[in-house]
Amino acid sequence: MLPTLTTLQQRKPYLYSPDWLCPQCNSAPEDLNHLWTCPYILPELNPCLTHRSEVIKFRDSCLSSFLSLKSLDISFQTEFSALDCWNYDAPSSSCLWLTRGLLPAHLTAFLNQFFPLSVIYKTISPLLNDFQVELYGEIWLCRNVLFHAWEESQGISAASKLRGPSTNSFPNTTSPQQHNSSLASVSQDSWISWISSSIIRGGSWISHLDFLRRLTVQPLRISFW
Ligand SMILES: [Zn+2]
Repeated sequence: MLPTLTTLQQRKPYLYSPDWLCPQCNSAPEDLNHLWTCPYILPELNPCLTHRSEVIKFRDSCLSSFLSLKSLDISFQTEFSALDCWNYDAPSSSCLWLTRGLLPAHLTAFLNQFFPLSVIYKTISPLLNDFQVELYGEIWLCRNVLFHAWEESQGISAASKLRGPSTNSFPNTTSPQQHNSSLASVSQDSWISWISSSIIRGGSWISHLDFLRRLTVQPLRISFW
């Protein structure tokens, strides 16, 4: 399971206040599903838009792979594209399951009308893996770079993560100013200025992202569980 903010809030409530929302958008708790639906203000790093385009790419590569195996009429393409698991708008729960690397039963049942299960799994598995590698590089790693900068702004250091609750200042009042700067408690305007300044300040931030993206070119087996 990816260590999203809600997971960290459960594991280390003395470091991560339960009131804090997603550091990227400050509009919802950051749980696993929020990673793909976060309406982050910067369009080029918007997880929601990235997720949509990756779902479309995955759907289209599945479609062309199956069509290359057998000639099928246009109704196959129409019905395949209309399956609930490709509904990225909401997104549907089956789309979120697919994002986690699980094949929805209705997808395999539909394909099973045309192909044996062994062919379905053999065709989809590498494409599903590519889909997850892309999401990992384009969304999770980018989120981690920003999250790290945000943790620093909250006074959460690597050392404080190693220390237990007894030696940490939160939720005691020894450093109230630090924790009063929580993004969850500031207005949207000042949050946007925080995020802008953090991007400008960290000139290395974007180049760091490029570096991380290059790393994801290597084959990886990723599970979001
Ligand atoms: Zn968010």
